[in-house]
Amino acid sequence: MSEIEGISLDFYETLAFHREGGGRARALVDYLDAHELAHAPWEHQVLYDVFDQHDARYAPGGSPADRMAYYVFLADRIFKRLQVPTAEGDAERHARNLWRILGPQCFDVFPDAWTALSALRARGYSIAIVSNWQAGLRHFCAELGLAGHVDHVVASGDVGVAKPDPGIFEEACARLGMRPERVLHVGDSLVDDYRGGAAAGLQVILLQRDPEPEPQASRIIHRLDELPGLL
Ligand SMILES: [Mg+2]
Repeated sequence: MSEIEGISLDFYETLAFHREGGGRARALVDYLDAHELAHAPWEHQVLYDVFDQHDARYAPGGSPADRMAYYVFLADRIFKRLQVPTAEGDAERHARNLWRILGPQCFDVFPDAWTALSALRARGYSIAIVSNWQAGLRHFCAELGLAGHVDHVVASGDVGVAKPDPGIFEEACARLGMRPERVLHVGDSLVDDYRGGAAAGLQVILLQRDPEPEPQASRIIHRLDELPGLL
């Protein structure tokens, strides 16, 4: 591997995972159904639409009242976006539960990610998270304790371009202040991370946590804590 100055890491299934395993979409739909709240069919874009002001309007360190006001705002957006017929007070009534389903506390960081990040930081690498994710991923990262371990968080919902488009990798390299060939991108998606990163000129490694199916990339790790030893 030629000289690397910066590390770019995917977020979901690379650094963090959904605690219950099913993902937020299923959890939300299950919740609405359990409460007999009729809703429009789910589509992935819903998350992007309801979180589109998360970066600007949400403050992780805000007062309890400010946070509650945001949860109600978010609940109201969810109900409107999914065309849920609601009664007076429904957004307030469901706000905390919906935040619990969609907010950062439904994720956890892989133990091997902490190990890898600490080792990479100790060796002086600059680190960016590059993710196809809704606006405000940096707040999720802060609440998961990742903020002190990374220098930049680049989310597609914030920058308007998603992996595998080279534009999001170019944005990450610009924020790192590095040429793409000096940046190593690691993620779990063959198309978005491995091929996308390579097409943008970054060095790439595929993280394949599950040994099956057969590897489809020439540079693979199975755990994130294998990474520091390769540099
Ligand atoms: Mg991923």
